[in-house]
Amino acid sequence: MTKYVYAFSEGNKDMKDLLGGKGANLAEMTNMGIPVPPGFTITTEACLTFLREGGAPSEMLAEAGEHLVTLQRAMGKSLGDPGDPLLVSVRSGAKFSMPGMMDTVLNLGLNDASVEGLAKQTGGDMRFARDAYRRFIQMFGKIVMDVPGDAFEHAMDEAKGAKFDGAQDTDLDADDLSALILRFKALYREHTSEDFPQDPKDQLRLAIDAVFSSWNGKRARDYRRQNKISDDLGTAVNVQTMVFGNRGEDSGTGVAFTRDPSTGEKVPYGDYLSNAQGEDVVAGIRNTLPLVKLEELDPVSYGELLQVMHTLEMHYRDMCDIEFTIEKGRLWILQTRIGKRTAFGEWVMAAEMLDDGLIDEDAALLRVDANRLEELFKRRVEADGATAIAKGLNASPGAATGAVVFSADEAERWAKEDSARVILVRRETTPDDYHGMIASQGILTSAGGTNSHAAVVARGEGIPAVCGAEQIRLDLEARVFTANGTVVREGDTITIDGFTGNVYVGELPLADSVLEKARQGDADARQEPIWRSFERLMRVADDRRRMRVRANADTPEQSTNARARGAEGIGLCRTEHMFLGSERVQAVQQMIFAETPEEEQAAYDALLPLQRGDFVGIFRAMDGLPVTVRLLDPPLHEFLPDLTELSVEVALGRERGEDVSSQDAVLTKVRQLHEANPMLGLRGVRLGILKPGLYAMQVRAIVEAACEVRRAGGDPKVEIMIPLVATVGELQQLRAELEPVAAEVLAAASVELSHLEWGTMIELPRAAVTAAEIAQAADFFSFGTNDLTQTAFGFSRDDIGKFVGLYEERKLVPANPFVTVDRAGVGRLMQIACEEGRAANDEIHLGICGEHGGDPASVVFCNELGLDYVSCSPFRVETARLAAGQAAVGAAESASK
Ligand code: ADP
Ligand code: MG
Ligand code: MG
Repeated sequence: MTKYVYAFSEGNKDMKDLLGGKGANLAEMTNMGIPVPPGFTITTEACLTFLREGGAPSEMLAEAGEHLVTLQRAMGKSLGDPGDPLLVSVRSGAKFSMPGMMDTVLNLGLNDASVEGLAKQTGGDMRFARDAYRRFIQMFGKIVMDVPGDAFEHAMDEAKGAKFDGAQDTDLDADDLSALILRFKALYREHTSEDFPQDPKDQLRLAIDAVFSSWNGKRARDYRRQNKISDDLGTAVNVQTMVFGNRGEDSGTGVAFTRDPSTGEKVPYGDYLSNAQGEDVVAGIRNTLPLVKLEELDPVSYGELLQVMHTLEMHYRDMCDIEFTIEKGRLWILQTRIGKRTAFGEWVMAAEMLDDGLIDEDAALLRVDANRLEELFKRRVEADGATAIAKGLNASPGAATGAVVFSADEAERWAKEDSARVILVRRETTPDDYHGMIASQGILTSAGGTNSHAAVVARGEGIPAVCGAEQIRLDLEARVFTANGTVVREGDTITIDGFTGNVYVGELPLADSVLEKARQGDADARQEPIWRSFERLMRVADDRRRMRVRANADTPEQSTNARARGAEGIGLCRTEHMFLGSERVQAVQQMIFAETPEEEQAAYDALLPLQRGDFVGIFRAMDGLPVTVRLLDPPLHEFLPDLTELSVEVALGRERGEDVSSQDAVLTKVRQLHEANPMLGLRGVRLGILKPGLYAMQVRAIVEAACEVRRAGGDPKVEIMIPLVATVGELQQLRAELEPVAAEVLAAASVELSHLEWGTMIELPRAAVTAAEIAQAADFFSFGTNDLTQTAFGFSRDDIGKFVGLYEERKLVPANPFVTVDRAGVGRLMQIACEEGRAANDEIHLGICGEHGGDPASVVFCNELGLDYVSCSPFRVETARLAAGQAAVGAAESASK
């Protein structure tokens, strides 16, 4: 037979599924001998049965009745006894703490007769007893029976007004409260058409039903959807003996944390309110005192509380958050749970608990959240009362201040020529804006969500961004924007806060991150607990992880930066950025326009030394570590003017009677190259097939650069990667063309490289499922999960912002698949490619270079696949190191279970 009710002494902290978080921890504390007012918990299973059958199972009612009898016997009081009544609270509590469910009802068991008994228990304090009764009617009416709370508030105000002007709750005496109780009962009848229930058993049953029903209330459902909590958990109900914090100055109630949840410091932290019930603290009726003040008010109880805090922390081996009440100098603990903490606090606590031997290294490593690590390196706005002119989405963390510019070209020019700090303000951004985005301190868009191009690039590059600030109206012609009446011109300074989404006019002070200062060598910052904690736990992560961590870096500076953050190579060096910049674009256009092989070769000859120079810098920065260089990937039209803009320009020129022949020629070419679906068009390996000289030039530049670095005493480790391969034939054909080029360069330089490999990205479903063939022609695979996600789902990454939010909300995708690898689909393709690729080529090494390489949940998946490395943006390298360490520990833990 199902057991539906557990006395606190029967449960423990691991029974959260059945008893809810609150109930499980009340049971645990009871068994630890901590003073918890006795009571019992009705299980989540009873809730589910109740909801399924539309009523409480009769066994449950019988069981609850038995537990009530036991409780009454233990307390020597009974519910509703007019002489000496037992009072209880009815508290909801699901597995996860969940706002939106039914609030707690206190003082249950009071009625017209037992209120007299309560007065007797408290030495004839009629005022106290009646106040408790009116609170109960009010809470029960509002919470259980949905009587509008205002009705009671209003009656309360009337009573006070009738007393004297400015009267407080506490000015109402026993007689006033007697009248108020009558009024409250009348209000109750008005709204429910029933009398206020006098039988405590009815009160209890109604309250339990209401808690169960609240699981399906709209607020609770919305909260679960938002927070991805399952609808099938149900809530438990805790019935607990009342204790009173409102019995005078020697009573009170408060909350306590065993450590400071924001700094992580090992000091007692919390709030206390004397002569009050728990609800008063939340309601903020009176100002609370800092917890340490309790020492002066009641040193004995304070000492006991510290003892309980210590006991709980040693027991849970974590920071605990506690609710307590003191009744006439006697301490009672009403709740505990593992406390929430800031991203900052969790590092300090974890390292300190490790040092103190409270937890071991693995546990400490798992205590910190890899998703929040990046934030700790970012600057913050010290807003101090400044008013925001607009608010958008907190798309990329960090704060930035700078001069407003409205185009990517301007951003780049101001930043380069005037060394100005700029904020790029756009409606939305596109891949064409990239050069301006990376030159900016911050990015602000008026449209687009947290998955818009601007947001994704900003996060990838570690640039603070606020996106979708809809109050901002851009006028690009006039070079101004307005936001809620404020006009901001080009060149004006603004500050954006990527943590909150706020936008401010002017330059607000920004606080440097301690971690960032410490990383850059600041001696004082290195003395701070956060830095010591960071170093300590990262050592553990590096020690535990099995996967290597590389960075996606395209320039020597990015490479150096990545290496300083612990990158162990480059997993993706994109060469397309080497085709930008005015002299290069010219050569690229010359290549595109070439009519003869000679003209085309001349363009390659112009590009060769430029590319070689780039590679030399990168190989030097990554000396001794592998560098994967991807041959040119994007469609050629990206290096030409935009079709529409150019058409307009030509048309206008013609109208004005100008000579437009040269632009017209460009226009013709742009039209020729125009593709309906460029992402699926002439790009990647297809370019290599169509323009053999292009990849040959790139390979020559790479290998010549490697030779140069090698001759200077370095040890470049080169991996050449061919993008967008779908068939093994593509790869074979290109290797046949390109390997001789490399060999020729090496022979001419008489240099041997310690490492020169050829491989491909796996970024098309066909490549993944034919990995067995492709692996025979590849030394390595690197999963390009951005394109693999686009092509597996048929989702365009640049457009998914329009619907991904709705998709996530409706659980049509488990998460945004461009952020976290979609295990079932994209992940399955990866798994096939790994297994079949390894079976065909046992030397093959495997990595990932999509955005997912820096996403902790995806890193866990990569660890499961047994990848050799993950590669991510330089800014994510620490995150990935941490996540890879956690994945290794987590995998070991679940294997040992
Ligand atoms: P929540 O989940 O919102 O924290 P609780 O069930 O913890 O709700 O109840 C809110 C407050 O009610 C608690 O902080 C506590 O002060 C008070 N409370 C609950 N049960 C009792 C009780 N048995 N005796 C005294 N106060 C109680
Ligand atoms: Mg609580
Ligand atoms: Mg790709």
